[in-house]
Amino acid sequence: MPVNKEQYQNLLMQAQARRCTVLAVSKTKSVEDILDLYALGQRDFAENYVQELLDKQAVLPQDIRWHFIGHLQTNKVKLIVPVVHLIHGVDSLKVLDEIQKTAAKVNRKVACLLQVHLAQEESTKYGFTPEDIAAVCTAYCSQPSRYSMVSLKGLMGMASLTTDVQKIRHEFASLRNLLEAMRRHYSCLGDSFKELSMGMSSDYAWALEEGSTMLRIGSLLFGAREYGTGH
Ligand SMILES: *Cc1c(COP(=O)(O)O)cnc(C)c1O
Repeated sequence: MPVNKEQYQNLLMQAQARRCTVLAVSKTKSVEDILDLYALGQRDFAENYVQELLDKQAVLPQDIRWHFIGHLQTNKVKLIVPVVHLIHGVDSLKVLDEIQKTAAKVNRKVACLLQVHLAQEESTKYGFTPEDIAAVCTAYCSQPSRYSMVSLKGLMGMASLTTDVQKIRHEFASLRNLLEAMRRHYSCLGDSFKELSMGMSSDYAWALEEGSTMLRIGSLLFGAREYGTGH
């Protein structure tokens, strides 16, 4: 399916007006589809499956910034760490410890976002509670050597799958408030703890209004996904 160029330009304009980055979510999409967007200047692409990201990274231009937005299993961390630009879905201290271990081995500092479980209605089962986030920040700040190769850049969340706009906006606002609270409370996080990865094809307009810095957009750019077996 060809990339929707008009939709892309329109989205970019809206995002840029708010200093927000558009990530093209290319899961299940072909290398050709990705190159179509690349030709328009897109450099940030996001994938949900480790092997799919590695296969695409190997054959696509090397200046693409690959974002991992899926659920990361500890045994896959070592595969992704050498090539990833930003890991969005860190949802346990176990995964964060594993990232540190691998990053130290390959001597590559790895940028991460902490995933927060925002939704009241089923969109994902993954993510920390707000209370967990404070505990992670405490660990990160009180044991700097334990996380010397991890750089926490902010928070990621998915809103409820609902048409209730008030609810969606409220969930996005709560992610922004949590980020601001962590910045105030934990000065060790520094100014680079500022990213809010929130907003997808169906709800990006509300995410932009609530202060998103990274939109994760798939179907709006590439068309609907068709899932074969294996996903
Ligand atoms: C698939 C996916 C997206 C993109 O979804 P669209 O509705 O196609 O824009 C964004 N974020 C995550 C975590 C995803 O898994």
